[in-house]
Amino acid sequence: MSVARYAVFGHPIAHSQSPRIQAAFAKAQGIEIDYRAIDATPQDFAAALDAFAADGGVGANVTLPHKEAAFALCATTTSRAQRAGAVNTLLRKGERWHGDNTDGIGLVRDLTGRNGLDLRGRRVLLLGAGGAARGVAPALLDAGILELVVANRTPERADALVDAMSEPGRVISAYWDALREQGDFELIINATSAGRGDGAVFSLPLSLVNSLTTAVDLNYGEAAIPFLAWARAAGCRNEFDGLGMLVEQAAESFQQWHGVRPETDAVYAALRERAATLVTA
Ligand code: NDP
Repeated sequence: MSVARYAVFGHPIAHSQSPRIQAAFAKAQGIEIDYRAIDATPQDFAAALDAFAADGGVGANVTLPHKEAAFALCATTTSRAQRAGAVNTLLRKGERWHGDNTDGIGLVRDLTGRNGLDLRGRRVLLLGAGGAARGVAPALLDAGILELVVANRTPERADALVDAMSEPGRVISAYWDALREQGDFELIINATSAGRGDGAVFSLPLSLVNSLTTAVDLNYGEAAIPFLAWARAAGCRNEFDGLGMLVEQAAESFQQWHGVRPETDAVYAALRERAATLVTA
């Protein structure tokens, strides 16, 4: 019997941890899978996905920069993928792709489970309005936060995200340069890729932070250093990177494909040991 084929598509993809994570989940569950990383440029993505399906591919993860393109290629999508307008998990159904977005539930599980946060009634600042921000915003709202303020370098994208959430008053956009007018937040989430450049620094008003503020960077490894350094300097006592989210969103994908949710703590601990070398999902 042939082994079921899975993959992660991205560009670049060489440093992806997804094959390692999915292999560890499968081994722990006694399931045999063939899971590979496939590098596809935006121009090649649709053809590469077709070729993968023709070759027996039954499920895939999608990462930067293909999440919105993957959404457009799906015949059916979950409601959380529709709210995000982006897909990170593909499941082959007959001759078509079904798409889901597990980024948001992955973050919420990491925040409320591993890190023990109660999100209900919290004011949350979300930095960024790309695919990751669009994925996590609906899940934060569903988790019962009080208010979501979205700030993005390109303000029109923040406005578009706010419009897509359709909760006027509860979800608002703010100009990045005017953030000091927004008061303080119990949770600040960096969903930008601003920390990826050499010598990147993060500069935000210190007034965003109070004595209880938690700061979370969806990035991990070197890309998370600038934002988390700012958060510590601003007085945050609780700050962490996106490694836990990475593992939790992967577990949600695994469940979609195999019908069982894997235990995540051992995989998280193993990845944490390697964290200094991690670059991309
Ligand atoms: P996108 O390319 O879709 O969006 C990038 C975002 O970063 C945009 O909001 C962009 O703003 C902003 N940005 C980029 N450079 C700068 C800068 N120099 N200053 C300020 N803002 C900047 O990427 P994604 O949303 O998919 O991913 C964002 C990050 O989250 C990535 O680094 C990714 O690795 C990480 N991630 C982690 C996951 C995990 O499981 N831990 C899951 C998904 C993503 P603008 O609109 O102005 O261009």
